[in-house]
Amino acid sequence: MNTPPQAGFLMNMDTLNTNNLKLAIQKQGRLTEETLEFLRKSGLEFESYKQRLFSSCRNFPLEILYVRDDDIPNYVASGTVDLGILGQNVLNEERPKVKKLLNLRYGFCSLTVAVPKESDVKDINDLKGQTIATSYPESTKKFFSENNIPVVVVSISGSVEITPALGVAQGIVDLTSTGSTLALNDLRALTKIYESESVLIANEQTLVNGKKDLLEKLVTRFKGVLSAKDYKYVMMNIPEDVVPKIKKIIPGLKSPTISPLASAGWVSVQTVIKEDVFWETIERLKKVGATGIIVLPIEKMII
Ligand code: ATP
Ligand code: MG
Repeated sequence: MNTPPQAGFLMNMDTLNTNNLKLAIQKQGRLTEETLEFLRKSGLEFESYKQRLFSSCRNFPLEILYVRDDDIPNYVASGTVDLGILGQNVLNEERPKVKKLLNLRYGFCSLTVAVPKESDVKDINDLKGQTIATSYPESTKKFFSENNIPVVVVSISGSVEITPALGVAQGIVDLTSTGSTLALNDLRALTKIYESESVLIANEQTLVNGKKDLLEKLVTRFKGVLSAKDYKYVMMNIPEDVVPKIKKIIPGLKSPTISPLASAGWVSVQTVIKEDVFWETIERLKKVGATGIIVLPIEKMII
Protein backbone atom coordinates (compact mmCIF):
# COMPACT_ATOMS: atom_id res chain seq x y z
CA MET A 1 0.00 0.00 0.00
CA ASN A 2 2.75 2.46 0.91
CA THR A 3 5.32 1.33 -1.63
CA PRO A 4 6.31 4.31 -3.77
CA PRO A 5 5.70 3.99 -7.52
CA GLN A 6 8.72 2.89 -9.56
CA ALA A 7 10.72 5.74 -11.13
CA GLY A 8 9.97 4.41 -14.61
CA PHE A 9 6.29 4.44 -13.86
CA LEU A 10 6.30 8.16 -13.03
CA MET A 11 8.52 9.05 -15.98
CA ASN A 12 6.16 7.30 -18.34
CA MET A 13 3.11 8.86 -16.69
CA ASP A 14 4.38 12.30 -17.79
CA THR A 15 4.31 11.23 -21.42
CA LEU A 16 0.63 10.24 -21.22
CA ASN A 17 -2.10 12.44 -22.62
CA THR A 18 -3.65 14.17 -19.61
CA ASN A 19 -7.05 14.43 -21.32
CA ASN A 20 -7.28 10.68 -21.61
CA LEU A 21 -8.80 8.47 -18.95
CA LYS A 22 -6.28 6.45 -16.96
CA LEU A 23 -7.13 2.98 -15.72
CA ALA A 24 -4.90 1.02 -13.34
CA ILE A 25 -5.04 -2.77 -13.47
CA GLN A 26 -3.01 -5.54 -11.83
CA LYS A 27 0.35 -5.96 -13.59
CA GLN A 28 0.87 -9.62 -12.85
CA GLY A 29 -1.43 -11.81 -10.80
CA ARG A 30 -4.71 -13.61 -10.57
CA LEU A 31 -6.78 -10.77 -11.99
CA THR A 32 -4.50 -9.80 -14.89
CA GLU A 33 -5.57 -12.23 -17.59
CA GLU A 34 -9.32 -11.90 -17.01
CA THR A 35 -9.06 -8.12 -16.77
CA LEU A 36 -7.27 -7.91 -20.14
CA GLU A 37 -9.90 -10.22 -21.62
CA PHE A 38 -12.71 -8.09 -20.18
CA LEU A 39 -11.19 -4.89 -21.62
CA ARG A 40 -10.76 -6.50 -25.04
CA LYS A 41 -14.35 -7.76 -24.99
CA SER A 42 -15.37 -4.16 -24.33
CA GLY A 43 -13.91 -3.38 -27.74
CA LEU A 44 -10.72 -1.72 -26.51
CA GLU A 45 -7.64 -2.29 -28.68
CA PHE A 46 -4.20 -2.09 -27.07
CA GLU A 47 -0.86 -3.87 -26.88
CA SER A 48 -0.01 -5.78 -23.74
CA TYR A 49 3.35 -7.43 -23.35
CA LYS A 50 5.00 -8.71 -20.18
CA GLN A 51 7.34 -5.85 -19.32
CA ARG A 52 4.91 -3.03 -20.05
CA LEU A 53 4.22 -0.21 -17.59
CA PHE A 54 1.37 1.24 -19.58
CA SER A 55 -0.50 0.87 -22.90
CA SER A 56 -2.47 3.45 -24.86
CA CYS A 57 -5.72 2.28 -26.44
CA ARG A 58 -5.81 2.72 -30.21
CA ASN A 59 -9.58 3.25 -30.44
CA PHE A 60 -10.52 4.97 -27.16
CA PRO A 61 -8.88 7.85 -25.23
CA LEU A 62 -7.72 5.53 -22.47
CA GLU A 63 -4.32 4.70 -20.98
CA ILE A 64 -3.97 1.41 -19.12
CA LEU A 65 -1.39 1.37 -16.31
CA TYR A 66 -0.04 -1.89 -14.93
CA VAL A 67 0.64 -1.80 -11.19
CA ARG A 68 0.53 -3.97 -8.05
CA ASP A 69 -3.04 -4.46 -6.93
CA ASP A 70 -2.24 -3.11 -3.42
CA ASP A 71 -1.33 0.26 -4.97
CA ILE A 72 -4.55 0.67 -6.98
CA PRO A 73 -6.73 2.16 -4.16
CA ASN A 74 -4.11 4.85 -3.46
CA TYR A 75 -3.62 5.76 -7.10
CA VAL A 76 -7.37 6.08 -7.66
CA ALA A 77 -8.08 7.96 -4.40
CA SER A 78 -5.27 10.45 -5.08
CA GLY A 79 -6.24 11.00 -8.73
CA THR A 80 -2.96 9.60 -10.13
CA VAL A 81 -5.36 7.52 -12.23
CA ASP A 82 -9.10 7.94 -12.85
CA LEU A 83 -10.14 4.31 -12.64
CA GLY A 84 -8.98 1.02 -11.21
CA ILE A 85 -9.91 -2.65 -11.41
CA LEU A 86 -9.22 -4.73 -8.30
CA GLY A 87 -10.77 -7.21 -5.89
CA GLN A 88 -13.60 -6.04 -3.66
CA ASN A 89 -11.55 -7.62 -0.84
CA VAL A 90 -8.91 -4.87 -1.18
CA LEU A 91 -11.64 -2.21 -0.88
CA ASN A 92 -13.11 -3.92 2.20
CA GLU A 93 -9.69 -4.04 3.81
CA GLU A 94 -8.43 -0.55 2.99
CA ARG A 95 -11.67 1.45 2.70
CA PRO A 96 -10.13 4.04 0.33
CA LYS A 97 -12.07 7.19 -0.57
CA VAL A 98 -13.14 6.07 -4.05
CA LYS A 99 -16.45 5.37 -5.77
CA LYS A 100 -17.29 1.80 -6.73
CA LEU A 101 -18.97 1.77 -10.14
CA LEU A 102 -19.44 -1.87 -11.18
CA ASN A 103 -19.05 -5.47 -10.12
CA LEU A 104 -17.22 -7.19 -12.97
CA ARG A 105 -18.23 -10.81 -12.35
CA TYR A 106 -14.84 -12.50 -12.33
CA GLY A 107 -12.10 -13.03 -9.72
CA PHE A 108 -14.60 -14.64 -7.36
CA CYS A 109 -13.17 -15.61 -3.97
CA SER A 110 -14.00 -15.52 -0.26
CA LEU A 111 -12.17 -14.29 2.79
CA THR A 112 -12.24 -17.43 4.90
CA VAL A 113 -11.38 -18.43 8.47
CA ALA A 114 -9.51 -21.76 8.51
CA VAL A 115 -7.77 -24.00 11.04
CA PRO A 116 -5.56 -27.11 10.77
CA LYS A 117 -7.58 -30.23 9.83
CA GLU A 118 -6.61 -31.97 13.08
CA SER A 119 -7.43 -28.97 15.30
CA ASP A 120 -10.04 -29.31 18.09
CA VAL A 121 -11.61 -26.04 16.97
CA LYS A 122 -15.21 -26.76 15.91
CA ASP A 123 -16.47 -23.24 15.27
CA ILE A 124 -15.19 -19.69 15.46
CA ASN A 125 -16.03 -19.39 19.17
CA ASP A 126 -13.34 -21.97 19.92
CA LEU A 127 -10.76 -19.52 18.55
CA LYS A 128 -11.18 -17.26 21.62
CA GLY A 129 -7.77 -16.11 22.86
CA GLN A 130 -5.97 -17.79 19.94
CA THR A 131 -3.61 -16.24 17.39
CA ILE A 132 -4.86 -15.69 13.84
CA ALA A 133 -2.45 -14.96 10.97
CA THR A 134 -3.68 -12.97 7.98
CA SER A 135 -2.87 -10.47 5.24
CA TYR A 136 -6.29 -8.92 5.96
CA PRO A 137 -5.84 -7.61 9.52
CA GLU A 138 -8.59 -4.97 9.36
CA SER A 139 -11.26 -7.34 8.00
CA THR A 140 -10.16 -10.00 10.50
CA LYS A 141 -10.25 -7.70 13.54
CA LYS A 142 -13.64 -6.34 12.51
CA PHE A 143 -15.09 -9.83 12.03
CA PHE A 144 -13.90 -11.22 15.37
CA SER A 145 -14.83 -8.12 17.33
CA GLU A 146 -18.33 -8.06 15.76
CA ASN A 147 -18.69 -11.66 16.92
CA ASN A 148 -17.33 -10.78 20.40
CA ILE A 149 -14.47 -13.25 20.12
CA PRO A 150 -11.18 -11.77 21.39
CA VAL A 151 -8.25 -13.04 19.28
CA VAL A 152 -4.67 -11.94 18.62
CA VAL A 153 -4.28 -10.91 14.97
CA VAL A 154 -0.83 -11.29 13.42
CA SER A 155 -0.30 -9.51 10.10
CA ILE A 156 1.62 -11.57 7.51
CA SER A 157 2.30 -10.34 3.97
CA GLY A 158 2.12 -13.68 2.13
CA SER A 159 1.95 -17.50 2.42
CA VAL A 160 -0.44 -17.21 5.35
CA GLU A 161 -1.49 -20.83 4.87
CA ILE A 162 1.80 -22.19 6.22
CA THR A 163 1.69 -20.25 9.52
CA PRO A 164 -0.19 -22.91 11.55
CA ALA A 165 2.38 -25.55 10.54
CA LEU A 166 5.15 -23.13 11.64
CA GLY A 167 3.48 -22.69 15.02
CA VAL A 168 2.97 -18.98 14.39
CA ALA A 169 -0.85 -19.13 14.62
CA GLN A 170 -3.67 -21.50 15.51
CA GLY A 171 -5.90 -20.23 12.74
CA ILE A 172 -5.74 -18.15 9.57
CA VAL A 173 -7.89 -15.76 7.59
CA ASP A 174 -7.12 -15.87 3.89
CA LEU A 175 -8.65 -15.63 0.43
CA THR A 176 -9.88 -18.90 -1.01
CA SER A 177 -11.69 -19.82 -4.19
CA THR A 178 -11.70 -23.58 -4.79
CA GLY A 179 -10.33 -24.49 -1.36
CA SER A 180 -7.47 -26.44 -2.94
CA THR A 181 -4.76 -24.34 -1.24
CA LEU A 182 -6.39 -25.01 2.13
CA ALA A 183 -6.56 -28.76 1.43
CA LEU A 184 -2.95 -28.77 0.22
CA ASN A 185 -1.87 -27.27 3.54
CA ASP A 186 -4.02 -29.58 5.69
CA LEU A 187 -6.38 -26.79 6.65
CA ARG A 188 -10.17 -26.79 6.85
CA ALA A 189 -12.52 -23.84 6.39
CA LEU A 190 -14.65 -22.76 9.36
CA THR A 191 -16.61 -19.86 7.93
CA LYS A 192 -16.58 -17.12 5.29
CA ILE A 193 -16.11 -13.52 6.40
CA TYR A 194 -17.21 -12.13 3.01
CA GLU A 195 -17.33 -12.96 -0.68
CA SER A 196 -15.47 -10.93 -3.25
CA GLU A 197 -15.19 -10.37 -7.00
CA SER A 198 -13.37 -7.87 -9.19
CA VAL A 199 -14.79 -4.35 -9.26
CA LEU A 200 -14.34 -1.09 -11.16
CA ILE A 201 -13.59 1.93 -8.97
CA ALA A 202 -13.30 5.61 -9.88
CA ASN A 203 -11.72 8.73 -8.50
CA GLU A 204 -14.45 10.95 -7.05
CA GLN A 205 -13.33 14.01 -9.04
CA THR A 206 -13.33 12.14 -12.36
CA LEU A 207 -17.06 11.55 -11.87
CA VAL A 208 -17.74 15.28 -12.06
CA ASN A 209 -14.81 16.86 -13.94
CA GLY A 210 -14.12 17.25 -17.68
CA LYS A 211 -13.58 13.52 -18.14
CA LYS A 212 -17.09 12.69 -16.93
CA ASP A 213 -18.53 12.09 -20.44
CA LEU A 214 -15.64 9.85 -21.45
CA LEU A 215 -16.09 7.88 -18.27
CA GLU A 216 -19.79 7.38 -19.01
CA LYS A 217 -18.96 6.11 -22.52
CA LEU A 218 -16.49 3.61 -21.13
CA VAL A 219 -18.88 2.43 -18.41
CA THR A 220 -21.63 1.91 -21.05
CA ARG A 221 -19.22 -0.38 -22.93
CA PHE A 222 -18.40 -2.29 -19.78
CA LYS A 223 -22.08 -2.68 -18.91
CA GLY A 224 -22.73 -4.00 -22.43
CA VAL A 225 -20.26 -6.83 -21.84
CA LEU A 226 -21.67 -7.56 -18.38
CA SER A 227 -25.30 -7.67 -19.56
CA ALA A 228 -24.33 -9.98 -22.43
CA LYS A 229 -22.93 -12.39 -19.82
CA ASP A 230 -26.37 -12.53 -18.17
CA TYR A 231 -28.33 -13.50 -21.29
CA LYS A 232 -28.37 -16.07 -24.10
CA TYR A 233 -29.90 -15.53 -27.53
CA VAL A 234 -32.41 -18.28 -28.35
CA MET A 235 -34.15 -19.25 -31.62
CA MET A 236 -36.80 -21.97 -31.88
CA ASN A 237 -39.70 -23.22 -33.97
CA ILE A 238 -43.16 -23.54 -32.43
CA PRO A 239 -46.71 -24.32 -33.56
CA GLU A 240 -48.53 -21.02 -34.10
CA ASP A 241 -51.28 -21.83 -31.60
CA VAL A 242 -48.84 -22.01 -28.65
CA VAL A 243 -47.52 -18.45 -29.21
CA PRO A 244 -49.53 -17.03 -26.26
CA LYS A 245 -48.07 -19.68 -23.93
CA ILE A 246 -44.52 -19.00 -25.20
CA LYS A 247 -44.96 -15.27 -24.63
CA LYS A 248 -45.73 -15.99 -20.98
CA ILE A 249 -42.67 -18.23 -20.57
CA ILE A 250 -40.26 -15.81 -22.28
CA PRO A 251 -41.25 -12.20 -21.99
CA GLY A 252 -37.82 -11.31 -23.51
CA LEU A 253 -36.53 -7.82 -22.98
CA LYS A 254 -39.70 -6.28 -24.39
CA SER A 255 -41.34 -9.13 -26.34
CA PRO A 256 -40.03 -11.99 -28.51
CA THR A 257 -39.61 -11.60 -32.30
CA ILE A 258 -42.02 -13.94 -34.09
CA SER A 259 -41.78 -14.69 -37.84
CA PRO A 260 -43.74 -17.15 -40.02
CA LEU A 261 -42.08 -20.34 -41.32
CA ALA A 262 -42.57 -21.93 -44.74
CA SER A 263 -44.55 -24.79 -43.17
CA ALA A 264 -48.08 -23.61 -42.45
CA GLY A 265 -49.07 -23.35 -38.80
CA TRP A 266 -45.46 -22.93 -37.58
CA VAL A 267 -43.52 -19.82 -36.54
CA SER A 268 -39.93 -19.06 -35.60
CA VAL A 269 -39.35 -17.28 -32.28
CA GLN A 270 -36.22 -15.30 -31.38
CA THR A 271 -35.62 -13.97 -27.92
CA VAL A 272 -33.12 -13.60 -25.08
CA ILE A 273 -33.21 -15.70 -21.91
CA LYS A 274 -31.57 -14.85 -18.60
CA GLU A 275 -28.70 -17.15 -17.75
CA ASP A 276 -29.91 -17.88 -14.21
CA VAL A 277 -33.28 -19.25 -15.39
CA PHE A 278 -31.97 -20.67 -18.67
CA TRP A 279 -32.42 -24.43 -18.19
CA GLU A 280 -35.70 -24.06 -16.38
CA THR A 281 -37.03 -21.92 -19.27
CA ILE A 282 -35.80 -24.34 -21.95
CA GLU A 283 -37.58 -27.24 -20.19
CA ARG A 284 -40.83 -25.28 -20.12
CA LEU A 285 -40.48 -24.34 -23.80
CA LYS A 286 -39.95 -27.96 -24.80
CA LYS A 287 -43.00 -28.98 -22.81
CA VAL A 288 -45.30 -26.62 -24.73
CA GLY A 289 -43.95 -27.83 -28.10
CA ALA A 290 -40.84 -25.80 -29.01
CA THR A 291 -38.45 -27.67 -31.36
CA GLY A 292 -35.15 -26.96 -33.11
CA ILE A 293 -33.98 -24.78 -30.23
CA ILE A 294 -30.73 -22.97 -31.07
CA VAL A 295 -28.80 -21.10 -28.36
CA LEU A 296 -26.16 -18.47 -29.14
CA PRO A 297 -23.88 -16.46 -26.85
CA ILE A 298 -24.36 -12.70 -26.98
CA GLU A 299 -21.24 -10.62 -27.50
CA LYS A 300 -22.62 -7.33 -26.24
CA MET A 301 -26.00 -6.09 -25.18
CA ILE A 302 -26.80 -2.39 -24.92
CA ILE A 303 -30.02 -2.00 -22.96
P1 ATP B 1 0.21 -8.08 -6.46
O1 ATP B 1 1.58 -8.53 -6.82
O2 ATP B 1 -0.44 -7.32 -7.59
O3 ATP B 1 0.14 -7.34 -5.14
P2 ATP B 1 -1.20 -10.22 -5.04
O4 ATP B 1 -0.29 -11.38 -4.80
O5 ATP B 1 -1.52 -9.28 -3.93
O6 ATP B 1 -0.67 -9.42 -6.31
P3 ATP B 1 -3.08 -12.05 -6.28
O7 ATP B 1 -2.79 -13.30 -5.52
O8 ATP B 1 -2.65 -12.00 -7.72
O9 ATP B 1 -2.60 -10.73 -5.53
O10 ATP B 1 -4.66 -11.81 -6.20
C1 ATP B 1 -5.26 -10.68 -6.76
C2 ATP B 1 -6.75 -10.73 -6.46
O11 ATP B 1 -7.32 -11.90 -7.04
C3 ATP B 1 -7.13 -10.82 -5.00
O12 ATP B 1 -7.07 -9.56 -4.35
C4 ATP B 1 -8.55 -11.35 -5.10
O13 ATP B 1 -9.45 -10.29 -5.34
C5 ATP B 1 -8.53 -12.23 -6.36
N1 ATP B 1 -8.58 -13.69 -6.09
C6 ATP B 1 -9.41 -14.56 -6.69
N2 ATP B 1 -9.25 -15.81 -6.24
C7 ATP B 1 -8.29 -15.76 -5.32
C8 ATP B 1 -7.66 -16.74 -4.48
N3 ATP B 1 -8.01 -18.00 -4.50
N4 ATP B 1 -6.67 -16.32 -3.68
C9 ATP B 1 -6.29 -15.03 -3.69
N5 ATP B 1 -6.86 -14.07 -4.43
C10 ATP B 1 -7.87 -14.41 -5.24
MG1 MG C 1 -1.18 -7.47 -3.73
